Amino acid sequence: MKIEIIPCLQDNYSYLIIDKDKNDACVVDPSEAKPIINFIEKENINLKYILNTHHHFDHIGGNKELKQKYNSIVVGYKYDSKRIPEISVLVEDKQIWKEDNFEAKIIHIPGHTTGHIGFYFFNEKAIFTGDTLFSLGCGKIFEGTYEEMFESLSKIKNLPNDTKIYCGHEYTLQNSNFCIKHDSQNLNLQNKITSIKEKLDNNTPTIPSTLKDEKECNIFLRAKNVDSFSKLRDLKDNF
Ligand code: ZN
Ligand code: FE
Repeated sequence: MKIEIIPCLQDNYSYLIIDKDKNDACVVDPSEAKPIINFIEKENINLKYILNTHHHFDHIGGNKELKQKYNSIVVGYKYDSKRIPEISVLVEDKQIWKEDNFEAKIIHIPGHTTGHIGFYFFNEKAIFTGDTLFSLGCGKIFEGTYEEMFESLSKIKNLPNDTKIYCGHEYTLQNSNFCIKHDSQNLNLQNKITSIKEKLDNNTPTIPSTLKDEKECNIFLRAKNVDSFSKLRDLKDNF
């Protein structure tokens, strides 16, 4: 499997997971159809599945057009079936979703929205975290509670350290400014910021991050309890 990063809209990332033997692919969170179509037509890829982490427009915007064009199957959270356009395969927490050579564990990670899920491609050691865990940040809590978001991040934290983190947005640099303000002595964070700036200077994504990096550097993952997490989340909302 190969994972391709497709920049969409202002600062969104969609991802293609490509089975190189068959040239079949899944797309995660197609914000818009155009950039996905451009890539798959150029590479002659069959877009078989559309995987949505949550129902926000910048994660599902391309569903309809892509489904119409390629007959792709839309996969999303069972209890968000009314909010995810064109959905036909409903998945739930802890389920293993398996089609063709694609295999992912579904992890329900509410907080940003009540129906947010992560797709954990354990064979590839990669998780698609949507707007729950960002590199050096976490999503805003729109529909859930602080407890839910803290719990969702803890679930991700329990995955192996070498898990690659593919999130929904390129927010890493802004996030790093917040982390360093509240954790200025963190050497790992200082080094991470240097490498982030190098990547951005070279016009390359800061994604994927790794769970190890995030556990060492992401102040939201370092919060010891819901209380300190909630305080940080509030501060970040006004940062
Ligand atoms: Zn969102
Ligand atoms: Fe988003």
